[in-house]
Amino acid sequence: MPVCPRCQHQVKATDLVCGYCGLQLKAHGHPSIELHRTTGGDVLCKTCAYDADDTCTFPQRPYATTCTLYQSITAEAERAQGEVRSRSQAASFRSVWQRYKLGIILLAIFGVSVLLTLLT
Ligand code: SF4
Ligand SMILES: [Zn+2]
Repeated sequence: MPVCPRCQHQVKATDLVCGYCGLQLKAHGHPSIELHRTTGGDVLCKTCAYDADDTCTFPQRPYATTCTLYQSITAEAERAQGEVRSRSQAASFRSVWQRYKLGIILLAIFGVSVLLTLLT
């Protein structure tokens, strides 16, 4: 369950404001629009992927302390790394399939035959 960034009380994921301290948690009064905010006076833009790639056109850049579009650089990097990893796993599976295709098919037929023999 998420916690309020100001008072650390637990809040529901759909709460618009914190029920304890009244901090605004969502933007535009909509439960699905996340309002990211900093704690301790930092600015969000320093760690935002849209600032890093210079694609942000928001007027509050580079001093935003609240933002609906904030995207963490590290989250972005981890997601890109995950995509690379899953792509390389798919490629290695494909190469194993190419190399041992006949053996895998024969093994599957043998397995099905054994299973049918045992069941009848
Ligand atoms: S999207 Fe928000 S946090 Fe990111 S650079 Fe723009 S204003 Fe800053
Ligand atoms: Zn609170």
